[in-house]
Amino acid sequence: MFLSFSLRVLVDAEALNMVESTGNYTKHRRAPLVVPVEGGFEIRYVPAVSGESLAHAYQAILAELAKERKLPVCERCATGEFLKHAEDEIFGDSEWEKQVQSYAKNKDFHSAEKTLITNCMVEDVGGFLYTNGNVKRTSRAAFGYMLPARDFAQAAAVEPQFHVRHVPSQPERGKQMIYYVETSSALYVLSGYLDICGVGCTSMIRRECLQDADKRRETALKALVLMLANQLYGAKRSRFLPAWTVASAVFAAAKSPFMVTPGHVKDYIDETIKRAKAYSKNFGDEVFIYYYIREGYDKSPAESGGEKVAANKLGQIEELAGMLKWKCS
Ligand SMILES: [Zn+2]
Repeated sequence: MFLSFSLRVLVDAEALNMVESTGNYTKHRRAPLVVPVEGGFEIRYVPAVSGESLAHAYQAILAELAKERKLPVCERCATGEFLKHAEDEIFGDSEWEKQVQSYAKNKDFHSAEKTLITNCMVEDVGGFLYTNGNVKRTSRAAFGYMLPARDFAQAAAVEPQFHVRHVPSQPERGKQMIYYVETSSALYVLSGYLDICGVGCTSMIRRECLQDADKRRETALKALVLMLANQLYGAKRSRFLPAWTVASAVFAAAKSPFMVTPGHVKDYIDETIKRAKAYSKNFGDEVFIYYYIREGYDKSPAESGGEKVAANKLGQIEELAGMLKWKCS
């Protein structure tokens, strides 16, 4: 089961992804966005939140949830340091870590991958690249850059906010520090996928699934839903916690990779249903669509999209965690 998703999220006064400080000025990340204009397209520089930032948030939630559910998480991932098992210098000294090194040295890459994912759920889902041993695992979860919806790019703004810290009880010190933090407001699009059936199974040399694979898959899905429904991503939340609303969203689950139409397209939910119909007609796979509409989407998608396409309306995004069923081979 392959789950893809796209959400339109209205975020006001956020500082979720800052990139550099010049003196007392901290800049928000920006990225170029191609927007349609009369007679063609043009580039606009818009506020953005990187896919790395979103993947970090997801893995941090996953690590916590896995620990709670007594699933294995390695020492570093458990503390939210996702260096993964990238090189020998950062390996710990557990028996299984020595085993991974020894398997890799003997070119038994399958056993190296299996041993590593058996002992770390975060690296199972989020992937790793062990450079000294030439063992790699592609992440089962992917996140794109969060960018303002293309048709509302003109409604995205970045504005520096003035702040001051001072010590009124000791005016003689004359201490007063001013600083600026760029904040942004936009209707963002957040898209990605989770390869549910890829969780808990090796992939580098051949597919072999772990005994607790289903529990891992359920945990990986719950972590994703928790993150998307509660806006648990981005940095600088302690003093810049934004006003956040999921305006609309679409999820699609299918046996093979089927990507939803991203929220940059105005009728993205309807288009996803139309594409799912064409997909199931031509590839024979069932597609399950789940969508959520709170505001800003004036079309009402068909409840059912055809023989092999089921389109379900979600009252709340959290419902997805209970509704999605899968059978992996
Ligand atoms: Zn780990």
